Amino acid sequence: MRRKPETRVAADVAEFALIDLIRERCGATRADVRLGIGDDAALLAIAPGQLLAVSTDTLVAGVHFPDDTAAHDIGWKTLAVNLSDLAAMGAEPAWATLALTLPRADANWVTEFADGFAELARQHRVALVGGDTTQGPLSITLTIHGFVPEGMALMRSGARLGDGVYVTGTLGDAAAGLRLSSSRQAMPAHLSARLHRPTPRIAQGLLLRGRASACIDVSDGLVADLGHICTASGVGAQIDSGLLPASPQLTAAFGADERRALQLAGGDDYELCFTAPDALASELLRDLADSGCAATRIGRVVAGAGVQVRDENGNSLPLPHAGWEHFA
Ligand code: ADP
Ligand code: MG
Repeated sequence: MRRKPETRVAADVAEFALIDLIRERCGATRADVRLGIGDDAALLAIAPGQLLAVSTDTLVAGVHFPDDTAAHDIGWKTLAVNLSDLAAMGAEPAWATLALTLPRADANWVTEFADGFAELARQHRVALVGGDTTQGPLSITLTIHGFVPEGMALMRSGARLGDGVYVTGTLGDAAAGLRLSSSRQAMPAHLSARLHRPTPRIAQGLLLRGRASACIDVSDGLVADLGHICTASGVGAQIDSGLLPASPQLTAAFGADERRALQLAGGDDYELCFTAPDALASELLRDLADSGCAATRIGRVVAGAGVQVRDENGNSLPLPHAGWEHFA
C-alpha cells in the first residue's frame, strides 16, 4: 500500500503571514520609530545626549529552555533575558529586532510566542522594529536597544575597595524550578514563574544610575557573574553565605546546603548584582525597596581577585562549580 503523503497541519502558513502575526502583536507604536517592520531596515531616532545601549541574546531549544516549554513562556523569556542586560547597564528599553528560526511555519506557535513577548513588551514600552524568519531547529535571537544618558551607564569595571556588594530580589529560585521540573517533582508556582517568566529589573537598574559603582545581571550564577565584576574592576569580593536572600518557597523546598549551592551557582535568576559605596547605600536601599524589589547586602569588595564565600562562622566555603558555560 502506498503511504499517505504527510498532511500539512492546517496552521502552517507562509513566511509573510508569520511576520504579519508578529507585527500585529509586537510592533507597538513609539514616536521614535520612524519606520518599523516592513521595509529593508527600520529607521529610528535617538535623542541628543543619549547613548544607544545594544545587547543580543540567543535562546536555543534544549539548551536555554526545555523542549516542552510553552511558546508563550519562550516569547516572554526571550525578551526578559535581553531586558535584563539593559537593566544591568542602567538603560531604558526602546526597540528590539527578532531573528526567529522555526522548524515549521506553525501559526499557533508563533501567535502564542508573540503574545508572550508582547505581554512583557507592553510593560516596558518596547517596540519590535524588525527581524528575520528562517527555517531550522528552534532558535531565537533577540537584539535589544535602549538609551542611557552619556556618562550614566552602569559598567562592570567600577567596583572599589570597601564598596558593599548587593543583590536585588532573591537567588536560586530559577535553578530550583529547573531542578524540580527535570526530576518531575511538584513545583511551587513561584519557582515555576521565576524559571519561565523572569522579571527584568529595569526600574531598579534606573535607580542604580549614578549610585552603584558596578553592576551585572545574574544570568549564569552569582559567583560566576560577580566574578566578572571582580575581573573587570581588578578587585576581589567576599560574600557571607548567611546573607544570601532566599524566597520562602526555596527555603521550604531545599535543605540549607542545597539551597546555598542553588543561590551561589544557579543561573537564570536575572537579578541585579551591584556594588555601591557605603555613603550612598541607605538611601539607595530605601529607593529600591520602594520600587517593589528590595536589595540585600551580601558582602563587600576586598583587595585581591575573585569571589570568596564565608559561612556563618567566618570560615571559607569551597566554591560551587562555576556558572553555566557553553563549550565547557
Ligand atoms: P529582507 O528580505 O529585506 O531581509 P524579510 O522578508 O526578511 O526582508 O522581512 C520583511 C520585513 O519583516 C522586514 O522589515 C523585517 O525586518 C521584518 N521581519 C522579518 N522577520 C521578522 C521577525 N521574526 N520579527 C520581526 N520582524 C521581522
Ligand atoms: Mg530577511
